[in-house]
Amino acid sequence: MQRRSVIAGLGSVLAPALWLPSLARADTPLAADPFGLGVASGRPTATSVVLWTRLLADDPTVPLGAPVAVDWTIAEDERMQKPVRSGRATAEAAWAHSVHVDVEGLRPNRFYWYRFTVAGKQSPVARTRTAPDVAERVKALSFSFASCQQYEQGYYAAQRHMAAEELNAVLFLGDYIYDISWGREHVRHHGTGRPTSLREFRDRYALYKSDRDLQAAHAAHPWIVTWDDHEVANDYADDISPTDADPEQFLKIRAGAYQAFWEHMPLPNAMRPAGAGMRLYDRYRFGDLAELFVIDDRQYRSHNACHAEQIRNRMLTDCAERLDPARTMLGAPQEAWLASGFKQASARWNLLAQQTLMAEVDRGKDGTHTYWADGWDGYPMARQRLLETVAASPVRDTLVLGGDVHSFWAADLPRAFGRAEAPLVATEFVGGSITAQGPSAQAVKDRLARNPHLRYGKTGANGYGVVALTPTAATVSFRVLASVKEQDSGIDTAVRFTVAAGRPGVQRA
Ligand code: FE
Ligand code: CA
Repeated sequence: MQRRSVIAGLGSVLAPALWLPSLARADTPLAADPFGLGVASGRPTATSVVLWTRLLADDPTVPLGAPVAVDWTIAEDERMQKPVRSGRATAEAAWAHSVHVDVEGLRPNRFYWYRFTVAGKQSPVARTRTAPDVAERVKALSFSFASCQQYEQGYYAAQRHMAAEELNAVLFLGDYIYDISWGREHVRHHGTGRPTSLREFRDRYALYKSDRDLQAAHAAHPWIVTWDDHEVANDYADDISPTDADPEQFLKIRAGAYQAFWEHMPLPNAMRPAGAGMRLYDRYRFGDLAELFVIDDRQYRSHNACHAEQIRNRMLTDCAERLDPARTMLGAPQEAWLASGFKQASARWNLLAQQTLMAEVDRGKDGTHTYWADGWDGYPMARQRLLETVAASPVRDTLVLGGDVHSFWAADLPRAFGRAEAPLVATEFVGGSITAQGPSAQAVKDRLARNPHLRYGKTGANGYGVVALTPTAATVSFRVLASVKEQDSGIDTAVRFTVAAGRPGVQRA
């Protein structure tokens, strides 16, 4: 009976010969709204974007079985009356009935609109945008950068506001989901424990992606994504997780987590994970104005120095191993890829999109120096090599954009920390968190007082950053919600900074 009703539903739009054989294995019907997790686009180039959706089953506890044919169309107009490309994708159980379409042959620097159709049901129409051609002289670009959307600690009002921004793309820099429940004053609940299987990670993404404000941000802009730790397990490093004693067991958890990440992100088919690994780092070009490097600082990093995974909050004082030059944050291949990319860079600005605050933060008191092992401070020599890479680029202006620390920061990045005479090689901005709770106001005050290259810090607020580029300057706005606990919260610009081309360093606008 179930099979018949699916056939009746699909028959109205699809040619039966193409899908009937596979449908014989169907065991559960599609949901009344198969697009209940929304649609998304990502990885924009001058001629291509990736379109994404995932089909939902009628009963969320029974995954879809058979492959399902999904039609897609991309058009030059919102009413979908000028279609430019269309096709059919197959959603398979092995990939959670997610759909990733690599659309090619588009024109540079254009808005496009797209829609999926399955079983006679249409998804909402969503917007995307290609990048300007490499040769185009671009007068202005704009990107938001955001991270850390713990579902329980607040609503995604920031995502709704991000949908309304004028952007070339959203940069989402990690902690898209949270593995764990934590924090105060929850407004809603995961309802399940920490995911460790592929199935449980899929369910966690489905929960997060059921949020309409998050769907709105995806439907308004192409997203460029990387991950941090909470997509897998808190503070993990390569194959070591503080919560999972056995690395072999943890790699199985990680494989499921990486696969679920790919399944739920607008990432190309070429990035589909194999085994426990997934290459995520990538490079983008936006005309003559910006080159964007997106890196992965989790998958290949050295284990914590001085066994910090066994130390509460991973704080290190007097740990010589921290300074070992053999320690890596990116792994040798990614480090070499980044160095060669920076060497060949030729746009006006370099953007480095990464997970966490890069600037050194000494959290000690008086003569004691204390560093957080999970951030770049756990890998100071790797950071030093990265700063040399930035300094060696023919492009003089690099902005480092980050997340992870649940607070807003602006920092000068000198060629060597702790040396007043060291020239600045880049300027850094960390765009707060969408919902996740940050450190205390006193902690931020102490860090600012002790680390003079930290030029601005703000905690107790949620939102995101927007960076607007022109050939002569970058302007960074920190957008802050009135209240993360209210779904319809307003948003405001808390502070604005400029970086003049050719003169790295934070200036208040
Ligand atoms: Fe986070
Ligand atoms: Ca994190």
